[in-house]
Amino acid sequence: MSRLLDGLDAEKRHWLHRCGQMAVTRGGRAFLVGGSVRDLLLSNDQVDLDVVIEGDGMGVAQDLARELGGSLIRHHAFQTAVVTTANGFRVDVATARREEYKRPGQLPQIVPGDLENDLARRDFTINTMAISLSESDFGAFIDPHDGRSDLETGCIRAMHPRSFADDPTRVLRALRFSVRYSYKIEDKSEEWMNEAITGGCLGTVSGERVCKELRLLFTESPMQGPSRLEVEGVLPIVHPGLRFQRKPLQGLQDLIEWWEVASSGVSLVTKPKGWLMVLGCCAKRLSSTERWDLVRHLKLSREERRPLIDSGAPWKRAADSLLDSPGQPLNSMVEREFRGIDQGALLVGASIAGIDSAKAEMVRIYLDELHGVTAELDGLELRELGVPQGPIVGEILERLRVSKLDGKAPNASVERKLVKAWLAENQL
Ligand code: ATP
Repeated sequence: MSRLLDGLDAEKRHWLHRCGQMAVTRGGRAFLVGGSVRDLLLSNDQVDLDVVIEGDGMGVAQDLARELGGSLIRHHAFQTAVVTTANGFRVDVATARREEYKRPGQLPQIVPGDLENDLARRDFTINTMAISLSESDFGAFIDPHDGRSDLETGCIRAMHPRSFADDPTRVLRALRFSVRYSYKIEDKSEEWMNEAITGGCLGTVSGERVCKELRLLFTESPMQGPSRLEVEGVLPIVHPGLRFQRKPLQGLQDLIEWWEVASSGVSLVTKPKGWLMVLGCCAKRLSSTERWDLVRHLKLSREERRPLIDSGAPWKRAADSLLDSPGQPLNSMVEREFRGIDQGALLVGASIAGIDSAKAEMVRIYLDELHGVTAELDGLELRELGVPQGPIVGEILERLRVSKLDGKAPNASVERKLVKAWLAENQL
């Protein structure tokens, strides 16, 4: 019996044991599979629990959710389910299956099968290992495709020649695993992959699925991800104008680190948007029309598209107009030009301009000191100073804000003096 499951904490081991028992109660068998086993072998301490049931997977998922007091989401069409608890414990459960690809690039048809079928339908040998969860042989290691030896020698090996054509997202998965572990794509598999790429396989898969894989790849490897995509000829298939941009991408990493420190780690800009900013750098040469084509192809949401769209014409217009202004632009001018632009796009623009450029310096000043600045006084205090009700209140607050941005109103007492002077000037 292997001792691989000893690598898990007691809670995870307990629930895997229960999965095994629940499967038997329903007349089936349970196995820990795929990336979970790969990660256990790699002594990763953050192992996701991915369980396959020979038999009634949806029933076992239901039993598990009930006993855990967790919530259950089932996708009957794919025979997959996710069980989660309030404290973040999660188990993915699926019925063992075979997959049939009627047309390349389309989602496969699912036919219930056994463990052997289920492992054979997977992407790479390193993801085809399993561990039995049955009472009788709890912990037994199952490795029909020699995944362990590929894991040990650092090799990404596809399961069959049509693998990449059947599911072109495997091209992006292969590159992700290859970059993540610094593994080599096995020669034959690389040949199959290149044939599929040059045969136009990525054109058969929906933009949404490409987008999901790009997000994973760029999040995991902001430099090597796009670099490998270019080398393999995939980047121009996503869009012909996309290029790996070494210097801007290096600059982007520096700026992201700077911004995370400057915002004390509370910035929501960089983490979820990081991969879109990488895409923004690769889109350096794209026109507005081409950017919108890419947005539509990848089906980016309104929020997701902003780093890409705003780092085009809106950024160029704003940054150029500030540089064109005579002398050093006032802080209030910088704030006015940049406030309507997505902050991720500003970091992209600054990276493309060069992190030592005047444009990048303006972005740093804006993000660090200017954005979100408001006057010290509020509407109520203005009323107390004698400002009449109406739009004038908003106008004076804006004037105070501009004065503060430009260093002319360092505190509330100066703001009060300014208000009194303006009121007298306008005989209000
Ligand atoms: P990660 O470590 O990034 O989470 P993973 O492989 O562990 O990757 P998933 O992407 O959730 O996690 O996939 C779980 C398992 O499902 C994989 O290990 C693999 O066996 C199988 N799988 C996922 N995507 C595919 C695919 N496109 N084709 C075939 N098998 C796949």
